[in-house]
Amino acid sequence: MVQIVKSACGMCQTGCGILVQLDGARIQKISGDPDSPINKGRLCPKGAASLEFLNHPGRLKNPLKRQGPRGGGSWKEISWDEALDTVAENLLKTKAAFGPEGLVFIRGSFKGAYEGAHLARLANVLGAPNVASMAPVCYIPRVNGNQLTYGFEPVPDYAFPPAAILVWGANLAETRIGEHQDLMEAVDRGAELVVIDPRRTPLAERAAVWLQPRPGSDLALGLSLIQTIIEEEWVDRVFVDRWCTGFEELKAHCRGLSPEALESVTWVKPDRVRAAAKLYATAKPAILQAGNAIDHSPHNVQTARALAILRALTGNLGVPGGEALGVPPEILPMGSPLFDLREKLPAEIRDKRLNARDGLLPNIFYALPQSIVRAVLEEDPYPVRLAYVQGCNLLLTYPHAGRACQALQKLDFLAVADLFLTPTAALADVILPAASYLEVDAVIAPPYYPMVQVQQKVAQVGESRSDAAIIRGLAQRLGLGEFFWESEEEGLDFILEPAGLRFQEFRQMGVLSGHRSFRHYEKQGFATPSGKVELFSSRLRDWGFDPLPVYRPLPETPDGSPELTGEYPLILTSWKVGAFRHSGGRQIESLRGSHAEAVVWIHPETAEKLGIAEGDRTVIETARGWIAQQARLTDKIDPRVVGVDYAWWFPERGAESLFDWDQANVNMLTDDRNPSGSELGTPQLRGFLCRVYKAEEGSA
Ligand code: SF4
Repeated sequence: MVQIVKSACGMCQTGCGILVQLDGARIQKISGDPDSPINKGRLCPKGAASLEFLNHPGRLKNPLKRQGPRGGGSWKEISWDEALDTVAENLLKTKAAFGPEGLVFIRGSFKGAYEGAHLARLANVLGAPNVASMAPVCYIPRVNGNQLTYGFEPVPDYAFPPAAILVWGANLAETRIGEHQDLMEAVDRGAELVVIDPRRTPLAERAAVWLQPRPGSDLALGLSLIQTIIEEEWVDRVFVDRWCTGFEELKAHCRGLSPEALESVTWVKPDRVRAAAKLYATAKPAILQAGNAIDHSPHNVQTARALAILRALTGNLGVPGGEALGVPPEILPMGSPLFDLREKLPAEIRDKRLNARDGLLPNIFYALPQSIVRAVLEEDPYPVRLAYVQGCNLLLTYPHAGRACQALQKLDFLAVADLFLTPTAALADVILPAASYLEVDAVIAPPYYPMVQVQQKVAQVGESRSDAAIIRGLAQRLGLGEFFWESEEEGLDFILEPAGLRFQEFRQMGVLSGHRSFRHYEKQGFATPSGKVELFSSRLRDWGFDPLPVYRPLPETPDGSPELTGEYPLILTSWKVGAFRHSGGRQIESLRGSHAEAVVWIHPETAEKLGIAEGDRTVIETARGWIAQQARLTDKIDPRVVGVDYAWWFPERGAESLFDWDQANVNMLTDDRNPSGSELGTPQLRGFLCRVYKAEEGSA
């Protein structure tokens, strides 16, 4: 009998609604759910490849134990009992020998199912202070900028038509398809579009104003937009006078930061900056959509602050057609201390966390990737000897990946839970086969929408287990079973308890909707110390950070290290392509078919000067080393910029070479030792100097 099961796509963080068509236990088809407020029936290529992903022959189906030397590519299948016993035994052994700070728990990108909260809960009840996530490079920088400025995370309101939309460093078409669809409908209905992107994307081609800044100069551009809006008196005086503090300080701070003064930094012509500022500030209401590009800089929090200030100066906060307070349904929020049990971690142990003394924002609780690597390699400030990695292919995603690889090689014990044998998993002592989203019941909280939705288990591949089940199994062996639920469903009931629901009921409902609240501040003020929008942030001042955004040139950039521009004359940036989520999907035929090779985008003029032709194998080099990608010539980027493909490895090349993880991996070129962001510790992942040349024939 054919049955339709409502669920959520987990191929990325967006959380699109899907319908799974089942014939008995067999999945016949997956389609977009037309009733989903996110994707309204659409699926992107990754979502459409869900079944290929689920059933791929390369999926890990049993726990594996390393045979022979680390990274030698030889494995033995073992039982779950043996696998979990081995991991638990090593956790206890390392904890006893090196203290709880000798362990590190690492998770990868957000799956939406509270799996990060499960991992943090395990670390906390085990009394281990070091948990690493992708927070410093994804979404959380923007959250911090917003929270510091006005105490909430605004969500765009496309229901009341916006008059203008500013898209800043966001590849919505390929990464956030729901918002992209809403945006395109608004544009079709007449909204004016401003796009800020170093690439002339299809969206940029539709824009009334497209700004093409130097990659890495977003903060300087933000300041020049603020200066212009103040100077030209395009500020929404009614909103600013009533609801903002620090306007005079901001005005004084921006004096001298005109588009002309910053043109040499941003590369954007002043008249274009003014056109963008005028359109965004005067067409009301307006939405500002920012993306992951903002996050990939040490300047990330201050850039997000500049964007938040732009929203406030133009009076677009809390208004229909602008950006509203998203009020989620009353379930347990993902970061709730009731879930992660952070109070179980003794204060003196918490103080031992890597980075605890680095002066980062006081709400930061993670260990930074570069600090983990340093602790393993240099035992600074103490040795880290064991890592438990949950769904993170860190050889591809950590900065200065060559050092990250040395660190993994040096560990006493490495356990990796993942779906495929990735380069990172190939270095593990024990590999735990994790379930894909189609194999897990979950409550999914999409990051950009005030709603939650159900994800339902409709398949089982081999002996794969959900992250929650793996962690429960470990906790039981560590004598910590009392802190975890008897079943996954009980854990889901706990999440839904504030809404008065059990998971079985939620299964039938499919979606729990929150709402957008407009002008919430008229009743309750803003959730900041002053109760107002803090253009000048009193919290940042009190904590010793810049209370107003300050642009400071970064190392290995044209203004930060002009002496390097002779040796490294080009600027490297990177972006995500629609076929892949981070390092995932390179083995999925339909996705790889649409983007078969790692490509470096080069302007034809630059290519001609360098003697590089379309399709040539091309070397990209920084002080850390070199990689090679295939040249693709395009006039959509500035001649001074190259666009390097991100997170490439080659599943077809075999575990013995760690799938050639270092051959085309952009993080072989990024640095982990230049000063990172003072607020979050983020390294510089884009916008730095490099050189490019044609690979010699026959070179590896
Ligand atoms: S955008 Fe993400 S959640 Fe939506 S269909 Fe694509 S992969 Fe799935």
